[in-house]
Amino acid sequence: MENAYIVGCEETKQGVIFDPGDEAGRIAAEVERLGLSIVEIIATHAHIDHIGAVQALKEKLKVPFRIHKNEEILVKAYDQQCRMFGIQFGSEPGIDGFINEGDEISIGNLKAKVLLTPGHSPGGLCFMFEGNPGRVIVGDTLFLGSIGRTDLIGGDMKTLIGNIKSKILTLPDDTEVYSGHGPATTVGREKRSNPFLHMS
Ligand SMILES: [Zn+2]
Ligand SMILES: [Zn+2]
Repeated sequence: MENAYIVGCEETKQGVIFDPGDEAGRIAAEVERLGLSIVEIIATHAHIDHIGAVQALKEKLKVPFRIHKNEEILVKAYDQQCRMFGIQFGSEPGIDGFINEGDEISIGNLKAKVLLTPGHSPGGLCFMFEGNPGRVIVGDTLFLGSIGRTDLIGGDMKTLIGNIKSKILTLPDDTEVYSGHGPATTVGREKRSNPFLHMS
């Protein structure tokens, strides 16, 4: 019940997989169907539902995995997370590099700007793709009509809402928002009708 995103450049056929939580075989088949050559795997954050298929895909596609440094603690706690949620799948992924706020992710001719939005987790990242409209991958920071839970390690409601308001809601209203769970939405829609963003 988690959204993985495969982002590919139509001109160069390069691609990046974001948040492969499970079903590595299905994701790999889709990559092949799209004719993409994957250059890396990136996670918005390290809850197991977002990284459960990373290691399997790393081995299958021979690509590196990157995440924000503040999420390393959660990656290292992979087995504890499995126990906590009462599920066991995948295995702890090896981290090959870190991504920082302000970095630019290149996928062929596509470019995404990295936004650091902790609050749901200690080093949560969003990826803003320029375009018309722009598109932003937000992980569990923001959902259609909701926001990420803040009761897990490194979570903080005030920090999360502050980051959403300063870094996501400041994007153009027509920016498409792709969340870690549930359907896509837009910045304008959440600005108008997300009840969590009108509390303070
Ligand atoms: Zn999460
Ligand atoms: Zn999640």
